[in-house]
Amino acid sequence: MSVPQPRLAGDAFPPGRDALLTALAEWLGEPAPTPGALGLVNIEGFRAINIEFGHETGDRVLAAVVDAIHGMLRPNDRLFRIGADEFAVLLRDVRNPRVAELALERLAACTRMNLAEDDGYVPVRSRAGMALFPEHGCNAAALLRHADAALHCAVEQTRPWCLYDPQRQAEQAAWLGLKGDLETAIRDGALAMHYQPQIDLRTGRLAGGEALTRWHHPDRGFVPPDIFVPLAEQCGLIDALTYWSLNAALRQCGMCRQHLGCVTVAVNLSARILHAEDVVPLVKRAMTIWNTQPGTLTLEVTESAMMEDPAAALKTLQELTDIGVTIAIDDFGTGHSSLAYLRDLPVHKLKIDKSFVLDMANNRHDQLLVRSIIDLAHNFGIRVVAEGVENDATLALLREMGCDYAQGYHIARAMPADDMLAWIGASPWAAARDLP
Ligand code: C2E
Ligand code: CA
Ligand code: CA
Repeated sequence: MSVPQPRLAGDAFPPGRDALLTALAEWLGEPAPTPGALGLVNIEGFRAINIEFGHETGDRVLAAVVDAIHGMLRPNDRLFRIGADEFAVLLRDVRNPRVAELALERLAACTRMNLAEDDGYVPVRSRAGMALFPEHGCNAAALLRHADAALHCAVEQTRPWCLYDPQRQAEQAAWLGLKGDLETAIRDGALAMHYQPQIDLRTGRLAGGEALTRWHHPDRGFVPPDIFVPLAEQCGLIDALTYWSLNAALRQCGMCRQHLGCVTVAVNLSARILHAEDVVPLVKRAMTIWNTQPGTLTLEVTESAMMEDPAAALKTLQELTDIGVTIAIDDFGTGHSSLAYLRDLPVHKLKIDKSFVLDMANNRHDQLLVRSIIDLAHNFGIRVVAEGVENDATLALLREMGCDYAQGYHIARAMPADDMLAWIGASPWAAARDLP
């Protein structure tokens, strides 16, 4: 729905940052200041509106936003314009976070509109953040800083609004520290690649390994990939991490082949990188450098990553298949996805998530599920890997069900490439023989 053009506000624009600081000082300087809130509203892409539609339209957008905010304020509340596209509201008598959230919701909602123009409309989008007095700060500087952090949080999480959350802020500060360290670790080659063997259940022989990245932080010790992979995704480091993983895995796989003949390696591809424009050239480049033969590299992609944009995933996976990459669906069974992709996407392997496998020797429902997944995949000509195999009984069940490959602590944990070579030399899985 679009709103009519508001009158040009001109001089009617609210007072600026100095007036806000004065008002804050007056409020907080009262003998017993009532609880309240400082909210910030930012108009998204305001510069682009000015450029695309002209400054007059930009002014009309500001006037419309001012009108909208005035419309929701109570008599004691006040509005300030503290930047070209940023407003502050002082809300008095906000006594608990629930009331603050309602106010934030209204603030964000009323500043999102389609502003009618002669030949169409200008979409106006905004985000809001808020900090509470006294919970989040007892002076102007702290309230401003925390309202700003909340606004940032809304931008980062692409949400219309955020209330300041001290806990989240502390976590974020820790993350920011980790981010710099991860960047350095990738750059200086301080990460390590470990490999977890996968065995062929028909022959009982080693089929290959999954490459799992390890980060030993100099102060914090072992940082699990479940922490640093999402961090890399959020901080724009995922390209660098993926390129590092691919190169490490393909280099070491090439070395292992000299000793073992044919082995394959599986590398995890996170959602962000699957949908990055340059993922295919990135894989191609690494394969060329390490002279990787077609059929040697498997890329593991989660169902949820594919479902984010099935059409784009189809294109990327097809291009990867064309250069000889095997595609495996990771964590199968955990995503909210459609089975149609088994029909539509070039998928060669399916990895049953370990949550269905870990306890399957004792759980009939898990057994039924695993059996059904194996049958389903085989009907589509897709091979099946079971991960999370922790005991002999599970291994025997999987073999009886016709599962193709198994991976898990019962066979071996992930280990460095050298250890894996030694392990293979001493392991029953290295020789062709019946399974124990
Ligand atoms: P994933 O791809 O599902 O990897 C399997 C995880 O299950 C690994 O945890 C592995 O150590 C663990 N696992 C294997 N067998 C067993 C078992 O029998 N029992 C139990 N309880 N666990 C088992 P890890 O190494 O901590 O990796 C966690 C996740 O981090 C991986 O899950 C993968 O999604 C991600 N990851 C690891 N390395 C990379 C990487 O280089 N790039 C990307 N994008 N993701 C990675
Ligand atoms: Ca995986
Ligand atoms: Ca998995």
